[in-house]
Amino acid sequence: MTTTEILEHLHNLEITSSEKGTAYGSQFLSGTDLITSYSPVNGNLISNIECTSSESYKKVIEKAEQAFVKWRTIPAPKRGDLVRQFGDALREKKQDLGVLVAYEMGKSLQEGLGEVQEMIDICDFAVGLSRQLHGLTMHSERPEHRMYEQYHPLGIVGIISAFNFPVAVWAWNTALAWICGNVTVWKPSEKTPLCAIACQKIIAQVLDKNQLPGAISCLLTGGAKFGKLLANDNRVALVSATGSTKMGKSVATSVAARLGKSLLELGGNNAMIITPNANLQLALTGLVFGAVGTAGQRCTTTRRLIVHEDILNSVIEKLTAAYAQLKIGSPLDEKNHMGPLIDTDAVKNYATTLSEAKKQGATPIVEGEVLTNKTYASDCYVSPAIYLANNDMAIVQKETFAPILYMIPYSGSITNAIAIQNNVPQGLSSTIMSENIRETELFLSAQGSDCGIANVNIGTSGAEIGGAFGGEKETGGGRESGSDAWKAYMRRQTNTINYSTELPLAQGIKFNI
Ligand code: NAD
Repeated sequence: MTTTEILEHLHNLEITSSEKGTAYGSQFLSGTDLITSYSPVNGNLISNIECTSSESYKKVIEKAEQAFVKWRTIPAPKRGDLVRQFGDALREKKQDLGVLVAYEMGKSLQEGLGEVQEMIDICDFAVGLSRQLHGLTMHSERPEHRMYEQYHPLGIVGIISAFNFPVAVWAWNTALAWICGNVTVWKPSEKTPLCAIACQKIIAQVLDKNQLPGAISCLLTGGAKFGKLLANDNRVALVSATGSTKMGKSVATSVAARLGKSLLELGGNNAMIITPNANLQLALTGLVFGAVGTAGQRCTTTRRLIVHEDILNSVIEKLTAAYAQLKIGSPLDEKNHMGPLIDTDAVKNYATTLSEAKKQGATPIVEGEVLTNKTYASDCYVSPAIYLANNDMAIVQKETFAPILYMIPYSGSITNAIAIQNNVPQGLSSTIMSENIRETELFLSAQGSDCGIANVNIGTSGAEIGGAFGGEKETGGGRESGSDAWKAYMRRQTNTINYSTELPLAQGIKFNI
């Protein structure tokens, strides 16, 4: 795709070379500090963005509070209709937004389009859900009494998001938050502000068309400072934070100190187990996409390969042959399998990790290097690496956001592989490649994977919106997206109604006056 074609897509999204990054609905506010958005694809400056100021933060939160007062009174199925219209607007803008995601973040166009499709899917899911926000009814122990529970909106939901899913994670949160009757204030990653501004412009038009308060959807732009403001702000009922474990610990501590609610989606250290009973061809396809897709910058990227020693050599042979076929280059060119890392800091982190892995005793199988050759249009390209390692190495225990795969052999039974898989601080995604039902069922049992996601015969990445998404341990314990994840965006109320002429007390307590 040529630069002119890319700019045309940006033009369709009303993205220009100078933007304001604070908004409630279609009202975009001026700010003082500037941040710049460069494309990792070719190093070009895309836009200068005015960040949020202290005054504009104050204004946005005030407007969000006012919008909530109206929005909560609108019946949930009508709120669902707004989300339906938003999904339709996304369908129209799918190609444009997919290109912007690929250009600003650096993932492949296919994955950029996939991310927008995920937004559309969660909108569809939320529309149906808007008629199903139901609680239970209970039988009261008291005669002529009725008990039930219902769910009410929380108020302002603050959303802090990471650079690697610059639009989908926001949509996972907003689609559910809105049908539940909340208003949202988004603090996207400072590395992908334009994706956020484009989304805000799309939803603002839908809100305006429906004559609804624009502040149902708000946007802040800038660094961690604004995430911290949300975490410490008593008016923000729920903070849904996606990003590193370091960020999650900071947010969780601040929100807990004011007894607010937090929903955390943090780092992963995901593993694939390949047993001698695996279909190797299937395993390798899932593995290569899981390890190099999005240049290893997915929270669910396959970072560890736990493979039985009996098939180690054969897996190494097939895997190195597959890696040799990989094409690296512009993610907007469909022939390439892998694009750039997000920025040069990420490249430094990749290089440091590889030298640290060697120092700690890991052996390169596919060495990996920073690609400095002039054929690469920016300084953000690297090649994927595979290192034979030990699970206990400090470097293997931590998440490096780059295409580095540690290969860890195991011997004996599947229980040994599961023990290795679980022996890391994180607990996001995991998978087993095996056609032996005893192995796969053990992996899924209570003695099996300790992760929020445990798959069989598919890769670690590429979740569908219908399931609840999230992980355990240092991944934070939050669940977003499908299943009953909506409950995190509402407060539960138990109601007891007396339709008798007496006032009996529970537990048979007598109190006569
Ligand atoms: P990051 O933690 O550096 O930043 C994420 C967001 O948090 C940004 O908006 C940033 O400005 C903000 N932030 C940073 N420090 C903060 C603080 N102390 N208080 C409040 N806000 C703060 O993460 P990143 O580099 O953008 O993204 C990569 C990380 O995100 C990886 O660890 C990845 O695994 C994780 N991630 C997890 C999921 C998931 O669903 N589990 C999904 C995507 C990404």
